Amino acid sequence: MAHCAFSPSLIVVGTAKIHSKVLIIGGGPAGSASAYWLAMRGVDVTVLEKKTFPRDKTCGDGLTPRSVAQLEAMGLSDFLATKHRYIGLRSVAFGRTMELAWPRHHDFPNYGFVVTRHDLDEAVAENSADKGANYLFGHEVTGVSLNSDSSIEHLEVKENSSGDRMLFSADYYVVADGANSRIGRALGAARNRDEPIGLAIRGYHSSPRHDDQYIESKLDLRDEKNSVVPGYGWIFPLGDGRVNVGIGMLTNQDRWKNFNTTHALERYIEQAPSYWGLSEKTELTTPTGGKLPMGFSIDPKSGPNFVLIGDSAASINPFNGEGISYGYETGRIAADLISDAIDADDRAKLGLYVSVLDKRYANYYRLGRRFVKLIADPRILSLSVWAGMHSEPLMKEVVKIMANLMPTEKKGVAERAIDQAIRLVDLARA
Ligand SMILES: Cc1cc2nc3c(=O)[nH]c(=O)nc-3n(C[C@H](O)[C@H](O)[C@H](O)COP(=O)(O)OP(=O)(O)OC[C@H]3O[C@@H](n4cnc5c(N)ncnc54)[C@H](O)[C@@H]3O)c2cc1C
Repeated sequence: MAHCAFSPSLIVVGTAKIHSKVLIIGGGPAGSASAYWLAMRGVDVTVLEKKTFPRDKTCGDGLTPRSVAQLEAMGLSDFLATKHRYIGLRSVAFGRTMELAWPRHHDFPNYGFVVTRHDLDEAVAENSADKGANYLFGHEVTGVSLNSDSSIEHLEVKENSSGDRMLFSADYYVVADGANSRIGRALGAARNRDEPIGLAIRGYHSSPRHDDQYIESKLDLRDEKNSVVPGYGWIFPLGDGRVNVGIGMLTNQDRWKNFNTTHALERYIEQAPSYWGLSEKTELTTPTGGKLPMGFSIDPKSGPNFVLIGDSAASINPFNGEGISYGYETGRIAADLISDAIDADDRAKLGLYVSVLDKRYANYYRLGRRFVKLIADPRILSLSVWAGMHSEPLMKEVVKIMANLMPTEKKGVAERAIDQAIRLVDLARA
């Protein structure tokens, strides 16, 4: 017997269900990547997306080499070639500046791009639709009906322009509805509140340096008392006259829970290096913010006929707050498993999802979660950033680790090294 997991007062027009082999909830990076790889395997897949594209999405718009690798794998090199390409990261802290080119890596390019989500998400969705994925924009999932074994029986969907309500069913469901994931929560997924979560805010400014070859991060972000806060500021050049300016920080400690990010962003803009030419007057949009669920700190991430991907599974990298690439990657992993399950006519194959994630990310993300707990202590954060800013070879290694771009053969060694470093700092604190 099916029961409704939320929106119980829903009035549905008619009872006919629209069926698709796979339904994806959300057409952001995670949902659209999943749609692409399912369509490439010839699977009948429909994406239900509540907004109409193109649409704005609060983001820093920074694509690291990891994101670029996924976009190129989806055949989007020509699209990227029309956007602003950059070659590395400029770190600014304690009065010092260091330019660090992206490392050479067997699996990833040594360049990134800055692309607004307005343009990026539309291009990725169009590309997936070209490969055969069916997109229903302006269709919001408003309810989930569950069977007694906790599998999804059907989705309740509202067509936003007409207000019409309908039912959609599928053999498999992919939850990709982002950081607030109402659908994930309706399915019983919950965040482990002991683990870190980030908060970020960004706005667009005009800048004479809009086509800089480096993205910039300020690593000693300050509060109003001039204490270092656990986070960083960024200026990402879009190459079209604009830069994306924002700050992101960890809010896992009580002292940061009520931190005013709008004021912190204003302070950052006031104190940004003068070559960016930023001020109140260059502001083009009112800043907007959002949550960064990280470290895979949400469980369960799958059920009998569904999986959670991207932000709905908290797949953001705790070391640097990057989420687009992990949305693409988890979307692809889910698509592969679902395609295999369909081919084998064996739904149980979906049960492998968590072990695949563990194999690929568990060690790194476990360290990331410990790392962010440590740097919540301003003394440790200051000391680490200060040390990094006084040694370019050290900083180069740190950037590789933070962006998850360690050479495959050295990954285990690097992870053990971080583990040791974290242990030492932990001991020193005790
Ligand atoms: C301020 C800020 C800056 C950031 N900067 C960066 C950065 O520079 N680089 C980076 O890699 N990451 C960055 N991130 C993280 C990144 O934005 C996310 O990790 C990424 O968007 C996750 O993709 P997703 O597909 O999981 O979710 P989303 O991008 O949130 O997509 C979810 C989609 O689902 C749709 N949806 C939601 N609910 C429903 C529903 N009920 N029915 C139908 N559709 C629904 C939404 O409309 C949306 O299109 C930033 C985040 C923030 C907040």
